[in-house]
Amino acid sequence: MKRHVIMALAVFASNMLYADPTFATMNNNTEQVTTQDEPRRILTEDNMMDNNDDIVFDNYFIDKTLRIDYVMAGNANEQHIYLDELKQQDRWAGRKSRLAEKFLNGNGQITVRDHKSHKVIYVWTFSTLFQEWLLEDEAKRVNRAFDASYNIPFPKATIDVTVTLTNNHQKVVTEMTHTVDPNDILIRKIRNNNIPFHYVWKGKTENTKTDIDNKEPKNGKGRNYVYMGFDPLEGVNLTDCIDLAIVADGYTEAQMGKFYNDCQRAVDALFAREPFKSLKNRFNVVAVAAPSLDEGPSVPHNDVWKRGTSGAHYDTFYSDRYLMSQDMHKIYDLLSGVPFEHIMVLINSNTYGGGGIYNQVTFSTSDHPTFKEVFVHEFGHSYAGLADEYAYDDQDNEWYPADTEPWEPNITTLKNFKSKWADLMPKKQPIPTPIDSKVPDFKKIDKNDEKQMAKLNACTQVVGVFEGAGYQSKGCYRPAQECRMKINEVEDFCPVCARAIRRITDFYTAK
Ligand SMILES: [Zn+2]
Repeated sequence: MKRHVIMALAVFASNMLYADPTFATMNNNTEQVTTQDEPRRILTEDNMMDNNDDIVFDNYFIDKTLRIDYVMAGNANEQHIYLDELKQQDRWAGRKSRLAEKFLNGNGQITVRDHKSHKVIYVWTFSTLFQEWLLEDEAKRVNRAFDASYNIPFPKATIDVTVTLTNNHQKVVTEMTHTVDPNDILIRKIRNNNIPFHYVWKGKTENTKTDIDNKEPKNGKGRNYVYMGFDPLEGVNLTDCIDLAIVADGYTEAQMGKFYNDCQRAVDALFAREPFKSLKNRFNVVAVAAPSLDEGPSVPHNDVWKRGTSGAHYDTFYSDRYLMSQDMHKIYDLLSGVPFEHIMVLINSNTYGGGGIYNQVTFSTSDHPTFKEVFVHEFGHSYAGLADEYAYDDQDNEWYPADTEPWEPNITTLKNFKSKWADLMPKKQPIPTPIDSKVPDFKKIDKNDEKQMAKLNACTQVVGVFEGAGYQSKGCYRPAQECRMKINEVEDFCPVCARAIRRITDFYTAK
């Protein structure tokens, strides 16, 4: 729990997983059952890249989305994955190249194989709130269930879908495979649910067809943007751009003008600085105006429960600032008919809080003074798989064991530092790198002192190997003394985080 309870900054745990494991591995469709006695396999490239040739999208998929809902359940000793429901939605917003590759491991993976040839034809990696929960004491006492939903391109022929969860040694602990026949009559066809959506930012690429700037919807009062005879998707390049959806929670119908305005502030914050500044034309950002019956968030420690949209509340795992929802099916339902790849839920609140989980979801609040910083930080988790670069002095959990190089690009245990940012190190920079005592302490700094603030900001660009990261004060290292992934007081990502964001963006937008 300590990991959620820190300092005056953005802290919300993200990329964690369970401590170790003697977990039984489980499979409810009977393929690939393993037991505790078998050696655990590491999920590596060779599990998926058994084919070197690139997968041509049109050979295997059509331009629709297959949404797969799962329930992940269990306790600290044993986990299970259950298939819930299959859904078909118009259009595919995800990548159409490098389909069988993965950029980061994450703590879990969806692997899609062509049933006939067994060829891997699509891969998606992610982390889950369920895996974070497994580290909580509660997981030793009770079985709980968490929702998960994933979008994959809609297959032309029968596929086998494998869901895999891994531990912090990157070993497989739970796996389940099921077969999907695209002609199955029980695949529910879902359409727009009448929640209005509006693009607050449209990326521009060479394939963008129409002049996207000269058609703005008329801003009706409150909830409804009125489209003057055109489709909200007109001029939106779904294929070449990364599609981020911002979903409203805690905004009443009458407050949708505020919601759109808050989304605009979020987008301005994201694209204000590098590396997102120069990548902004590779993103679309759509605002999804889902109305809540009550204004504001649920705050259990104040006995406040509101009728919101996403199931989010503060006090996740009893940590007051940890703002999350475990109801991913509900969140995906809000997005029926909206093409998206990444989800941000914007909570109408002035209370500090948030959370971000790699390739799952990000939560952020609209009206806290650190709104911009927290939004960008949390998006760093959910979009680029960046780890938190701060540490706790009294950490008693080993999140990142010494025998394993973390998959997150911006921390290292030095197990395989070469695979990280060794190439960005200045010559003769010692490992570990000592703290520069001339850099002002962010906890004591006067924010109005420009000179001191400039010094603090400058240190984000000096690459080294500083001990203390990933919630551990020992044995885990970060690339800069300060970074957007460490504190709210600095403006920029360190060069290692910035490169990771550029690289993942290149991966998603590869031709
Ligand atoms: Zn960084």
